[in-house]
Amino acid sequence: MSQHLMNTYNRQPVTFVKGEGVWLWDDQGKRYLDGLAGVAVNGLGHAHPKLVETISGQAARLIHTSNIYTIAEQAALADRLCALSGMDRVFFCNSGCEANEAAIKLARLYGHQKNIEHPEIIVMEKAFHGRTMATLSATGNRKVQAGFEPLVSGFVRVPFDDLEAVRQVAKNNPDVVAVLVEPIQGEGGVIIPKDSKAYLEGLREICDKHGWLLMLDEVQSGIARTGTLFAFQHTAMHPDVMTLAKGLGSGVPIGACLAKGKAAEVFQPGNHGSTFGGNPLACSAGLATLAAIDEEKICARAQEVGDFICAQLREKLADVPGVVTIRNAGMLIGVELDRPCGELVAQALAAGLLINVTAEKVVRLLPPLVMSKDEGGQLAEMLAPLIRNFLSR
Ligand SMILES: *Cc1c(COP(=O)(O)O)cnc(C)c1O
Repeated sequence: MSQHLMNTYNRQPVTFVKGEGVWLWDDQGKRYLDGLAGVAVNGLGHAHPKLVETISGQAARLIHTSNIYTIAEQAALADRLCALSGMDRVFFCNSGCEANEAAIKLARLYGHQKNIEHPEIIVMEKAFHGRTMATLSATGNRKVQAGFEPLVSGFVRVPFDDLEAVRQVAKNNPDVVAVLVEPIQGEGGVIIPKDSKAYLEGLREICDKHGWLLMLDEVQSGIARTGTLFAFQHTAMHPDVMTLAKGLGSGVPIGACLAKGKAAEVFQPGNHGSTFGGNPLACSAGLATLAAIDEEKICARAQEVGDFICAQLREKLADVPGVVTIRNAGMLIGVELDRPCGELVAQALAAGLLINVTAEKVVRLLPPLVMSKDEGGQLAEMLAPLIRNFLSR
């Protein structure tokens, strides 16, 4: 490993050199089953032929121009995203934290336009929104914030999945302008609200009552991960703002902040921008991703295979004490154990399986959405004995 890389990651000692579908190969020729998809990025798996063809063709034609000019691929991706989501306008950037930065700026400007001088945004305990100064301040994890004070002000924190707590803030705080929330908390430990539909619809009602923007961070839950293209599509409501990144470009960096109705009219020229955001290469990757999701019926597959993996794990781990719950929304899967289990990541790697552990005790699976039922069965078959052995020691 190079001594010239900043020491920001505890890396696993493996270097991948190629991939195909749900499989990766390292520089020793060893094969791995990918249960993580680059943390919910490689939804189409590795080396998807349509994606490769689209982006190599685009690279040969035009990689970058500038947002000083109109960009055909960007306009086409905005149209497609709005048609699929019911949102009205899109701002493109390069990552999840940038998409959330755009949402936070949009909410503040919305507040100022309503003559609220110190606008505040309600955020959740255990939330993860990114690592820039504003998004780490919005994040509900002290480890992410420690050492980076002073934090950005203007956030009010409440427990996740608690509508009453949000109503209490409404009573006492006239400066609130928006709620920023993940439909399912990914980094926080795959935390799914008790009744997701009722929670999001309840938030919608509170926001409508007070003129607040409901802003959904779908950076992890979006792009077919939970069995619908966007997690909010399991409900009957629409957000005012939605952020996307991770799966949108299938590995080509792209983020997006979508807005609807009055929220879509907040930004005017000069308020926000990005040099790279929405360039032809990234947007062609986004278009190819959305096309493949549609053509290959990937939403339905994510639901079916995600449920199948969980059913297999439940069966294989039924008699194992120490497994607290096995839960999923499509291909966003969490296996919560009764103890910290970070060492499982290296054990799985040695066994040829890529997984992740988050919130210390939760094995998180974010497989490529193209995973077949058979490959999902292999994943469960590899993972179950690792968990069983780990818990029996
Ligand atoms: C990963 C993630 C982010 C941050 O995305 P980056 O591209 O790493 O900046 C923000 N929100 C959620 C919900 C995420 O999962």
